[in-house]
Amino acid sequence: MKTALVIDDDPIVLTVLCRTLEDEGWQVLKADAGDTGVALAIEHKPEVIITDLLMPRFNGYQVCRAIRSNQAYFPQPRIIVVSSSNYAADRTNSIEAGADDFLLKPIKPVELLHLLDLEGGTTFLRKSDVMGSKSAAPPDTTFFRRAIGTPPTVRFWGVRGSIATPGDSTLKYGGNTACVEVRADGELIVLDAGTGIRNLGRKLASEFKSQPIEVSILITHTHWDHIQGFPFFIPAYSPHNQIRIKGYEGARVGLQSVLTSQMESPYFPVSMQQLPGYLKVEEIKEMQFNIGKVKVTAAFMNHPGICVGYRLETSGGSIAFLPDNEPHSRLRMAPVTDSAQSYEVLAYAQKQDEKLIDFIRDCDVVIMDSQYDGAEYKSHIGWGHTCVDDAVALSVIAKVKKLFLFHHDPDHDDAKIDSMQEWARELAAIHGSNLEVDAAREGVEVVLNRAAA
Ligand SMILES: [Zn+2]
Ligand SMILES: [Zn+2]
Repeated sequence: MKTALVIDDDPIVLTVLCRTLEDEGWQVLKADAGDTGVALAIEHKPEVIITDLLMPRFNGYQVCRAIRSNQAYFPQPRIIVVSSSNYAADRTNSIEAGADDFLLKPIKPVELLHLLDLEGGTTFLRKSDVMGSKSAAPPDTTFFRRAIGTPPTVRFWGVRGSIATPGDSTLKYGGNTACVEVRADGELIVLDAGTGIRNLGRKLASEFKSQPIEVSILITHTHWDHIQGFPFFIPAYSPHNQIRIKGYEGARVGLQSVLTSQMESPYFPVSMQQLPGYLKVEEIKEMQFNIGKVKVTAAFMNHPGICVGYRLETSGGSIAFLPDNEPHSRLRMAPVTDSAQSYEVLAYAQKQDEKLIDFIRDCDVVIMDSQYDGAEYKSHIGWGHTCVDDAVALSVIAKVKKLFLFHHDPDHDDAKIDSMQEWARELAAIHGSNLEVDAAREGVEVVLNRAAA
């Protein structure tokens, strides 16, 4: 006689399921809690386990994992998870925990018996069912490409560093984290996917309605303030759209892995695999590549982990985006004891900074980390960020035309950013430079028109 174990903390469900099976000639064990159910299973090794998902103390996922990890339980049983919750994430999680099937409550006896009759079972739930299906060919975005990009523009959707800071004190500059939109030469390029990308997604949805859109998102690095908005980017939820995310391998795991992890079930209700849009995550191997007609160059930044900055050459001018960076020489000027070594170290650090200056040289628009003022920086040496004095100095030396102070500190209110902007402009004047400086502000758009200037 075949044996089944039913685990459910609802006595009515438990009784109904047990009776259904007994009437069909099954020998049935029952438990009203997950942990006692697992103990019974290990003792009697039933061929089938039907377990409820949501139970206090020991839930259905835990039951699955406890059984699947028990080497002495051989052959392994078929596990059917039953639940009143019908979310795709719950089905995916059940599979990942080791379930073979998933049934939605209230369970019709005939449905359960039909499932048990199936040879080898497992037809109700397959990975492909819960992962969603992707369209094989990219949608046609010709209309979209024609509609954008002349003349090139830069628009700020998120200018804050570290964490989003909504509230009265950040109304002027905005509280969203890093996200900048560039439209140039038929391309829509998004620089980082901080919380600002949510509003960009809403704007694109209302602007292009059902017309397929095509977006390239360049990620500088995967700190939260640069990726956390992506799960809220509406265009990723339409099968008509093409979204390409590009960036570099992270410090510990790949780009795809980090982006997928932040959408896993403990953190977010929809997994990356379930997004219906035509979505590609691409780890870039080269430091130079093209997005359509836009030439992109990347350079490694001095910031904890792996972080790059991007420089884009468009038909209207160049844009450099360096949201997180700490100048090498500033960092290395921190107290050292051996003066001979310090000279050598400093010379090396200056060489590294010269590379950065070359990277932004003659750029029309530079969007640069300026998280701290000069005094604050002294207590934040080694945190991976720049002070406004250095951002101005680097831009002046590199003959940048316009500098946007970016990655505003979450503790800086509008008045503080106003004063940093004023100081930066004074500094540029002291250096005798024509450098224009603005503190980046949500909603501001810059038109790039080098030919007309
Ligand atoms: Zn950051
Ligand atoms: Zn960072």
